[in-house]
Amino acid sequence: MLGDQLDPTGPAFRGHRPGDARVLMIESEHALARLPYNRERRVLVIGAMRRFADRLRAAGWAVDLRRAPTLFAGVMAHAAEEEPDRIVVAHPASRSGLALVRRVAGALPVQVEIREPVGFITRPGELDEILGARQPRMDTFYRAMRRRLGILVDADGEPVGGAWSMDAENRKPPPRTRDLGAPAPWLPAADDPLDRELRHEFASLPEIGGGGERVMAADQGEAEAALDRFIETRLAGFGPHQDAMMDDDWAMSHALLSGPLNLGILSPERVARRVADALGDGAPIASVEGFVRQVIGWREYVWGWYWKRTWRTANALGAEAPVPAALRGGSTRMRCVEVAMDGIHRRGYSHHIQRLMVLGTLMLLRGTEPWAASRWFQAAHVDGAAWVMAPNVIGMALYADGGGMMTKPYAASGAYIKRMSNHCRSCPYDPTAGAGPDACPFTTLYWDFLDRHRERLGQNHRMALSMRNLAKRQDIPAIRARAREVMAALDTGVD
Ligand SMILES: Cc1cc2nc3c(=O)[nH]c(=O)nc-3n(C[C@H](O)[C@H](O)[C@H](O)COP(=O)(O)OP(=O)(O)OC[C@H]3O[C@@H](n4cnc5c(N)ncnc54)[C@H](O)[C@@H]3O)c2cc1C
Ligand code: SF4
Repeated sequence: MLGDQLDPTGPAFRGHRPGDARVLMIESEHALARLPYNRERRVLVIGAMRRFADRLRAAGWAVDLRRAPTLFAGVMAHAAEEEPDRIVVAHPASRSGLALVRRVAGALPVQVEIREPVGFITRPGELDEILGARQPRMDTFYRAMRRRLGILVDADGEPVGGAWSMDAENRKPPPRTRDLGAPAPWLPAADDPLDRELRHEFASLPEIGGGGERVMAADQGEAEAALDRFIETRLAGFGPHQDAMMDDDWAMSHALLSGPLNLGILSPERVARRVADALGDGAPIASVEGFVRQVIGWREYVWGWYWKRTWRTANALGAEAPVPAALRGGSTRMRCVEVAMDGIHRRGYSHHIQRLMVLGTLMLLRGTEPWAASRWFQAAHVDGAAWVMAPNVIGMALYADGGGMMTKPYAASGAYIKRMSNHCRSCPYDPTAGAGPDACPFTTLYWDFLDRHRERLGQNHRMALSMRNLAKRQDIPAIRARAREVMAALDTGVD
């Protein structure tokens, strides 16, 4: 079992009972140290594997959970000791995992059976089957998924509530209070002994953020508690402010479920059905639809896109800059970046809009090299995974696939962050200014980005309004000059 396949009812168990098969799980030293991961990520993933192994043992399974230099070495060592006559594994969630399984199959004289993946509703390659000849767009895919699963559709296959999307009712700016006022999310016990032990165990590995706060569920019991708490107390407020950000509210109304979903602990279909059922208990349709869209829409769409193309070399905008220094341990005066980085350092978590519209947009506008950006995101967040990184970072946030996934880049100036957060009120920069020493780096770089990519973006009709606004600006030379200063500051960490 790979570390992201932690479902005791998963496909690898089908047809087996305790006593007729052994479960092999490997803590790979190479995988643990491959990137400077956030310590809370290591705590979550290894902690989840150890808890899962204990649970299986309690149910009577023989479990070999071993530490090995690499996954391959671990399988070989196990095979030499136990001489299995057959290996059964769920389809890995990454290309490197699949390559590993194939290498094992080539190296051992036993049958290796690859079953369906854990943690997804669709199979690799199924995105194209679902979309057929239609344009690969999330909305088209999402409607097809709702109809296929019978979630939030009536007997005629039409959307419950009269519309496929409630986005118009969501996406509100934050209230003028200190925080959103949402009930607290489920959190594990702060003094969990296994977490403490693991933090100590990993203390010497290079890392982003020293952590100290695990915020995601690491076993089935915790995940059920987190899901219940979300549905019962926080779901109603999810929709309206799902795109908002606040200085003093790191979780807003988000579910904090990506970790257990990505580890195979929670089933996405069950999560979506439970949330859809909450409609019958009075949860508002806008919030229910907004959340279901994330899980059976965006999450599955991103998973489908991962298998649709190779991502390693995608760099349509020719971006070559390093990850901004403020994200590599440097300090920053940009309040929005500071708040997102505080969440990463403490918890290995920033919420979706911080990832997309602050950290991702900063890297897009600066021209950060896409693969470096993707590796950074994967290391920094507790829920990172190869399949989720490539499409979200390289495709969605950085537009480095040249518009395969998204119809236009998510480029935005400080005006967007000002509207959707309260960060700018306590920031020394001016979100409305594009040039001058107080200009907001996002605003300067936004205009400079449009200017730098005039030719490509000018051909995109969805960018027409932005390009017309660019053409009206009289201060482009001053913006260019300021952009050079901002870029140098971002690279060296003196903003
Ligand atoms: C640049 C960038 C990097 C991201 N990195 C990751 C990552 O490392 N791991 C990860 O799981 N998600 C990632 N996402 C997607 C999304 O931001 C996170 O899933 C979400 O913030 C996790 O927090 P939550 O559980 O509180 O989510 P909520 O906001 O409560 O959303 C509910 C669920 O929807 C799913 N979801 C929503 N959007 C996406 C999406 N675009 N891709 C995949 N799942 C989605 C997640 O499973 C999430 O748990 C990234 C998005 C962007 C733009
Ligand atoms: S002014 Fe600019 S840098 Fe400061 S918080 Fe607002 S958007 Fe971020």
